[in-house]
Amino acid sequence: MCHCSVMNVAASTPRTRVLVVEDEPVIATAVAQRLSAEGWDVQVCHDGLTAVDVARGFQPDVIVLDVMLPGIDGLEVCRRVQAERPVPVLMLTARDDETDMLIGLGVGADDYMTKPFSQRELVARLKALLRRMGRSVSASGTPDAEPAIVMGDLVIDKSQRRVTRKDEEVHLTPTEFELLVALCAAPRTVLTREKLLAQVWDWADASGTRTVDSHVKALRRKLGPDLIRTVHGVGYALEPPHEPTMEQ
Ligand code: CA
Repeated sequence: MCHCSVMNVAASTPRTRVLVVEDEPVIATAVAQRLSAEGWDVQVCHDGLTAVDVARGFQPDVIVLDVMLPGIDGLEVCRRVQAERPVPVLMLTARDDETDMLIGLGVGADDYMTKPFSQRELVARLKALLRRMGRSVSASGTPDAEPAIVMGDLVIDKSQRRVTRKDEEVHLTPTEFELLVALCAAPRTVLTREKLLAQVWDWADASGTRTVDSHVKALRRKLGPDLIRTVHGVGYALEPPHEPTMEQ
């Protein structure tokens, strides 16, 4: 019995859970096998509605999500899953212009890869996403809570990972939250896309700078257009909002 309980303790270390949503069986199987080889707990869904259902019970740490799916598409899956619980999403697209379209929409995905993609790169990107999440979890688990960042009518509670603007709670995805915190750490300072990519996404290469644009777009949609200034050809800067009561 003693051995059993020791083994249970060891076995209770949670494995990383990955949900793969992909309707092409060959790709789904290949991805699932590769991710299982990392020691991750992988579940596969072949359509959008099932994915939303499975995500609720499986509680994945990260989702690999194809855009074109039978039933509801990847965008809708992303919206529905994240409305229930913030979870990082890596979206698979068929073409570069599809990625551009999604970025234009400011979909709440954390990263994008265009098919065909290298499995090795997929694993690397997922690990970067998980590192970022691990960082967030340990930050929120810190016993001495950090004081909230207050900038005018914008309040960021880092320990609770909550954001309010004009006293209204704003729901951000994990990556949107990290990006906002990075911008707030240096208000009025122009941060290049490359720097933000390295800081928020843990990427050294600049190939994903459009991902930064996508998340800035999402933050503007959720927090208002006045907060983040684009410096064309350079990057972004946070403009601290005014405190309405301070104005005469
Ligand atoms: Ca598909």
